Amino acid sequence: YSFLQKIPKVELHAHLNGCIRPDTLFALAEEKGVTLSSHHFQPAKKNENNQNRYHTDDEDALLYNVQPRSLHDCFDMFAEIPRCVSDVTSLRRITFEALHDFAAHNVLYLELRTTPKVLNAECDKRQYLETVLGVMNEFEQSRTRPMTCRLIVAIDRSLSEQEACENVELAIDLRKSTLYADRIVGMDLGGNPTRGDFRIVRPHLERARQAGLRITLHCGEVADSGAMTSDHDDESSPPKYSETQAMLEFGPDRLGHALFVPNTLWSSQQRHIPVETCPMSNVMTLELAQHVRGHLIEGLQQHPQLREWLDTQYPLAIGTDDPGVFDTNPTKELWLLCRAFDLNVSMICRLVEQSVEYAFCDETTKRRLQKDIHEQMLLLL
Ligand code: IMP
Repeated sequence: YSFLQKIPKVELHAHLNGCIRPDTLFALAEEKGVTLSSHHFQPAKKNENNQNRYHTDDEDALLYNVQPRSLHDCFDMFAEIPRCVSDVTSLRRITFEALHDFAAHNVLYLELRTTPKVLNAECDKRQYLETVLGVMNEFEQSRTRPMTCRLIVAIDRSLSEQEACENVELAIDLRKSTLYADRIVGMDLGGNPTRGDFRIVRPHLERARQAGLRITLHCGEVADSGAMTSDHDDESSPPKYSETQAMLEFGPDRLGHALFVPNTLWSSQQRHIPVETCPMSNVMTLELAQHVRGHLIEGLQQHPQLREWLDTQYPLAIGTDDPGVFDTNPTKELWLLCRAFDLNVSMICRLVEQSVEYAFCDETTKRRLQKDIHEQMLLLL
């Protein structure tokens, strides 16, 4: 674990509000007099050195799932967090802490995503994004060991079409400013996968793409009833709509999770769309460790796609998704993968180096990152 902590990393799938440190959430709730109604919020467990579990390097403590987090639980939690992150000061705080936490795991390149929100009368969606972007600037300038930060503007699929449209227009507009032109790199479609409809958001994503933004879609997080059209033997009835299929046909630059993509759809892809895979999040939301005494490695071995992806060297980027919600960090994700699938250090290094290719930044930044990562790896090996 401590070796994996030192290796340079790339994080392409992390949601800002999901990065909130549990201690910060409790402090903000107290400060603002918010009673957290979700029973899932409990003070983070500490180890004997009084460190949070997600900062520990005690491998035994990392092996077991402390608290279950079904998909339903997570979305209960996501509804609660913005009640505490309700002004610019707390938004700045969670952004600084998220950047600091990734840097502590030697993340050299971070694409952080967030859904713009109206926090209060002083902070509309534009100010929300400008605050996050401002913290990224300050953070980068303050560091001697650089971490390159980029922003993906997210659309919450459970909200209205107008919200989606606003987020796209805002991202396009902010990129016109030289201050943010390089920093905002893409759009994400996420949120509760059992809500909303990709078809409604699609034209807005198309517009974002035309404007030069790269697109990542949360795809196949839950089974899609229409995705099995080839098994559908009644030829007289029209084939069911499959969101997964529609998303692949749209041709995004990356897919998030992609847990329930039928083999027929994988093989029909024109090209291999890189997948942002988030092992710990998947173990939790698919409740994979539930039946193996909460053992995370045995749980991960039940993952519907990972073994196949690793065996076939499918293009992958390993992400944390929501470190504060899933009690995880970039090192733990790599450590779990190594343990569950017997990966050696050089396989992990290759995974990290390759994921730079799937980043949404410009080519010059990618080449610089590849060089930096390679040099750091050589020093460590
Ligand atoms: P925010 O966009 O900074 O508020 O980050 C939290 C939000 O990210 C949640 O409210 C969801 O919309 C989204 N999110 C976080 N994790 C997941 C996930 O696993 N699947 C889909 N959406 C997610």
